[in-house]
Amino acid sequence: YDAKVNHTGHARYDPDRDDNSRERLQLIAELRDVLRHDPDQLVVYYQPKCSLSGRVVGAEALVRWQHPTRGLIGPDRFVQTAENNSLMPALTGHVLRTALVQVRQWRLSDPLATVSVNLSVTSLLDEGLVDHMTSALTDAGVAADALILEITETMIMVDPERSNRTLHALSALGIKLSIDDYGTGQCSLAYLRDLPVQELKLDRSFVQHIVTKQRDAAIVRSTIELAHSLGLVLVAEGVEDLGSAELLRAMGCDVAQGYYFGRPQPGTPTLAEAVDAAAIDGLSRHQMVKS
Ligand code: C2E
Ligand code: MG
Ligand code: MG
Ligand code: MG
Repeated sequence: YDAKVNHTGHARYDPDRDDNSRERLQLIAELRDVLRHDPDQLVVYYQPKCSLSGRVVGAEALVRWQHPTRGLIGPDRFVQTAENNSLMPALTGHVLRTALVQVRQWRLSDPLATVSVNLSVTSLLDEGLVDHMTSALTDAGVAADALILEITETMIMVDPERSNRTLHALSALGIKLSIDDYGTGQCSLAYLRDLPVQELKLDRSFVQHIVTKQRDAAIVRSTIELAHSLGLVLVAEGVEDLGSAELLRAMGCDVAQGYYFGRPQPGTPTLAEAVDAAAIDGLSRHQMVKS
């Protein structure tokens, strides 16, 4: 097999479907090498999270691989590979340290800024996770409440008891916890009730068509209600237009994230710069007209 690359920079043949392909093995070897010797090739992008009253409250750290010859590679093409090849502790550690330095800078101008970091299942099951978090926060000189860790229901269900213990320990440190892609997994409400999480991120598949699909709107509305009655913040993922943002605001949704407010982009000196100012403007203008 000859790994020809097309004009988009993506290999024509999808190596993700073949764990033993030459290209896949090369990617693993390169990733291992990069994590050891040149981790800054793994660039952290940030996507803003905005309250629907028009304030940016934080941002999610999303990793990309700035590959010297293949261009910018998205996480969907290498995060699972890292997970399958024991590279996740190093990758998570790199993203975490980078994100903490970023949030420390944001907090100079915005004392309540937070950064969200995605965990993987191996991180969640890692015996040393709580100690790693403690030392990463200490090294960065950042308060624990600046950090939100995102985990999915699927990750939790791999070992619910262990996850529960770990999440309680992280929470005791003052780190906030968030359930990512909420609604796509298989966590029972009884289980969720007993977890020390502060935030639900409703998966974008439920959010994307709320303006046109009544059944999606009904799911979003009742999830907001559920989150609030459990004392949780509800974050809507995948908000792509003003209409959706307005409807979410009318439904009482707390926070939104999506292309409307800003695409993931490299770090910025201030958190405000991570947001599309026109988006906030559109939202507040509309609010004024209505009230
Ligand atoms: P996620 O944590 O659910 O992150 C949200 C994904 O949705 C991001 O894709 C983001 O770019 C995309 N997105 C945000 N707003 C919109 C929107 O309005 N419309 C649409 N269509 N998409 C939107 P991305 O950056 O490609 O990341 C994909 C996944 O890779 C993430 O999903 C997360 O599960 C994983 N990932 C990214 N960085 C890391 C990391 O550092 N560690 C781990 N363990 N996983 C990561
Ligand atoms: Mg996430
Ligand atoms: Mg998500
Ligand atoms: Mg998602």
